[in-house]
Amino acid sequence: MDKKLDKKLHALDPRFRKRFTELMSMMEESISLLYETAIHDEKTGLYNNKFFETVLDMEIEKAKRGKEKLSMMIIDIDFFKKINDTYGHVKADEILKRLANILKTQVRKSDVVARFGGEEFIILLPETSLEKAKRFSSRLRNAIKSDKILKKYNLTVSGGITEYKIRDMKSKFKERADKALYQAKKKGRDRFVAVK
Ligand code: GH3
Ligand code: MG
Ligand code: MG
Repeated sequence: MDKKLDKKLHALDPRFRKRFTELMSMMEESISLLYETAIHDEKTGLYNNKFFETVLDMEIEKAKRGKEKLSMMIIDIDFFKKINDTYGHVKADEILKRLANILKTQVRKSDVVARFGGEEFIILLPETSLEKAKRFSSRLRNAIKSDKILKKYNLTVSGGITEYKIRDMKSKFKERADKALYQAKKKGRDRFVAVK
């Protein structure tokens, strides 16, 4: 609370002051809850696309100055429709959430993992070159492949990786990651493809 308001509050009746302070803190809690809800995807608990776009804009500004590398990864579950058809939507949802959790635990604090679409995820890797992003994708693949639950369903993912180039428009940067993902699918899925 700012000092001026604090001083004015002290001049008030103590009971009213207590009630006022309680209301203020309830309001603060509600606002922060609303904010958390607004930036997360309900199903997976990952960040949503809107929040991702905001961070992406900020990170591109930093990368434009040329001092920092910035990489991006788009991940799509392979044949997820078949998983839905075979095991049903409830199980498929559990699988989706399990994968989301693995992504969340594998990234660094400064990375942003968001649910991009139905069974697609996007990861922004600040201060990360394409080479480092490739190494990270291997770790991620290992974590997915060795997960005891995902293993039961033979779950595989494909991914596209790219690095920001100084003159890239945001759309170009994303398109390149998407193209890399398309190549990974075309080459037979269950792999990551990096595009410079
Ligand atoms: P591909 O390897 O080409 O990506 O095949 P795919 O089957 O994963 O791709 P396709 O785009 O044909 O189908 C995506 C499926 O993902 C269809 C949809 O039912 C499922 N899906 C998307 N979002 C959700 C979700 O939130 N929950 C569940 N259970 N399924 C979802
Ligand atoms: Mg898809
Ligand atoms: Mg898919």
